[in-house]
Amino acid sequence: PLKIFFNLGIDTMEVALVTGAVTLLGRSDVPGPRLWLGLLLGLLASEVLSHISLAAVMGLLGAPMTVNRLVRTLGFALISASVFACLAVVAVTAMWTERRVVVVILLLAASLTVAYRGHRRLSAQQRTTEALYDFVKELGPLCADAEETRDVLEQIRVLLHARHLDLALSAGTDGAWRHVAVFDGVPLTPFDATVIADSIAQTGAAAPPSGAHDRMATPLLGMNGVLGVLTVNDRLGSNRGFDMGDLRLLETVATELATALERGKLLGDLGLAATTDPLTRLPNLSDVTQRLDSALRSNSSILVAAVAVDSFREVNDTLGHQVGDDLLVEVTRRLALSYPHAIVGRIGGGRFAVAVQSDEAWGDPSMFGLGIRAQVEGGAQLGAIGTHIRLSVGVVSAPDHGRDGSTLLRRAETAMYGARHSQGGPAVWEPAYEVQGQRRLAVVMALREALAGGAIGVAFQPKLKTQTGQITGVEALARWTHPALGAIGPDEFIPLAEASGLMGPLTTTVLRQSLTACMGWQRRGGRIGVAVNVSADTVLDPNFVTEVSAIITSVGIDPDLLTLELTEGIVVEDPVLAAVRMHELRAFGVKLSVDDFGTGYSSLTYLKGLPVNEVKIDKGFIDDVVDDAGDRAVVRAVVDIAHTLGMTVVAEGIEQEDQHRILSALGVDETQGYLHARPMAAVDMAAWLRRHESARR
Ligand code: C2E
Ligand code: MG
Ligand code: MG
Repeated sequence: PLKIFFNLGIDTMEVALVTGAVTLLGRSDVPGPRLWLGLLLGLLASEVLSHISLAAVMGLLGAPMTVNRLVRTLGFALISASVFACLAVVAVTAMWTERRVVVVILLLAASLTVAYRGHRRLSAQQRTTEALYDFVKELGPLCADAEETRDVLEQIRVLLHARHLDLALSAGTDGAWRHVAVFDGVPLTPFDATVIADSIAQTGAAAPPSGAHDRMATPLLGMNGVLGVLTVNDRLGSNRGFDMGDLRLLETVATELATALERGKLLGDLGLAATTDPLTRLPNLSDVTQRLDSALRSNSSILVAAVAVDSFREVNDTLGHQVGDDLLVEVTRRLALSYPHAIVGRIGGGRFAVAVQSDEAWGDPSMFGLGIRAQVEGGAQLGAIGTHIRLSVGVVSAPDHGRDGSTLLRRAETAMYGARHSQGGPAVWEPAYEVQGQRRLAVVMALREALAGGAIGVAFQPKLKTQTGQITGVEALARWTHPALGAIGPDEFIPLAEASGLMGPLTTTVLRQSLTACMGWQRRGGRIGVAVNVSADTVLDPNFVTEVSAIITSVGIDPDLLTLELTEGIVVEDPVLAAVRMHELRAFGVKLSVDDFGTGYSSLTYLKGLPVNEVKIDKGFIDDVVDDAGDRAVVRAVVDIAHTLGMTVVAEGIEQEDQHRILSALGVDETQGYLHARPMAAVDMAAWLRRHESARR
């Protein structure tokens, strides 16, 4: 009504102006140039005035016209007014002479109007097609939450000449709709998209909500059903409302929009998969690196810890992947709980990263590392299995140890391996690690080759009865001389073999060579047992017993000629599994010895229920046994208890006669060390045995 009122007013004013101009200028009896001028000036003046009033009204309504636009439309209107003035001159002149010509003129005017309207519609359609083309061309993958989506919707709104546009997205399982709306002027009152979706499904059309004069809606169809509903309300610029052409346009746009949203979601999912660990939902290595980089841009003081779950691989291998997964999820839970504001990520198998700002209350790097261990370590129930979580932690601090994410993570991991290697507390990175790391890498590579090429040898060291000097057996010790790196000691390569999964082949080659040598001595008349060192991981391996028995059988030797030297670690690490394995081995006839006794955490009570034949007191207690009363007390206690439990006691690494005398007095059964012989090759060992026996006799 407002529009009609306004237009009527303008039209009345225009008629009044033209009539006035014609009356003032023209002579009412004859048409002539004065009348023509009156018509022209009247029409031009009415255009100027109507445009000024239109601009004024729009200004009042809060949508002022720019001067530029006013001048442009007015220019066009003035040209067409001049054309109309000419037409009017012709019509008036013709009617002056022949009144009935009015019919012809009306017909002419009607057909001109129709042609003009047709032209306008066509060019509007062309503009729309061009705009649609531009829109589709520009439309890339869209993420529903992105600000960009709002821009795209605004484009669609303009394209459809709608006052209001609403995109309702079905947001998953709870049936709720997520609305993104764009509008010109007043927003629409919220409405329920379900109603529209249902009504579209039933009738193919939708009813306008209150406040909207006209509405079109269309579903957004994705590959797996309805993604949402696109609704436009109130056509701008005319009273006619939306027509079939608009609806077709809306449907075209909706199809494109649905495709764009689906592609956006696909890309989003792919992006998530590229940055997130699927098991723990934590950021992965590349994402952690990026997060560190961006954290470092705003704050350079950061502590980064690399955290490894000890014996994760063993848990996976022996208890199954499900338990391994449970273990990781439990560690994740504890980390997330203790460090809610930190960057926590999973950077590999059983390895995590935790990064905090160092100005927070975390103290120095090693306190931070200790804190992580305190928060995460401890008993854990994984399904039916109870276990104990233990961590190795390496810490770096930025900017001292590095200024970018990948350097920091790499160094934290190096320190972490250092911590695991030394089985000590958290390790803080230092430059020396870099050199060690390179050497370690070179040694691991060379070791792999050496094992494949049979370059690992074995030396033997005899073990003698303290009282009689009679030989009771030899210990096999792995030996390796690398052509370029030189002689590398077991203290260096055994931990590396353990860390790089090479312990299996190493143990196999040592076992085979030792038993073959043992067989050789036996053929020459010496029945001498051989002791082989085995690491905890190797013993806990489910295939170990089968492997040992296979080698014994293939060499053809008595099982009781083989002693396996285990360290206390195995008992502490997994008492139950250790006991099972040890009983299996004993049942097969193999003897068991506990090596380096006193250095680990175990006590003799640990050994009470275990089928152990021998205890080897660590060299550390033997070195000062002559001077140190404390060491003597330890040796005496070990001898007492071990004898009560029916075990033989061996002292390792004796170098002096004095030590031998005292150990003998303390009741140590057997001794081994440089005093008697250094480790030697199998052939030398045979000669040594002969010499030794004849000397004894
Ligand atoms: P271990 O089993 O306690 O072996 C005794 C170590 O002490 C040997 O060092 C031996 O050469 C050394 N030793 C013996 N008598 C004396 C002495 O009087 N004075 C001094 N200073 N040292 C003495 P080695 O051969 O360097 O082996 C070091 C460790 O490496 C071994 O300690 C053992 O734990 C490990 N190892 C060696 N070979 C193997 C192997 O084939 N498998 C496994 N799992 N570990 C091995
Ligand atoms: Mg040993
Ligand atoms: Mg030892």
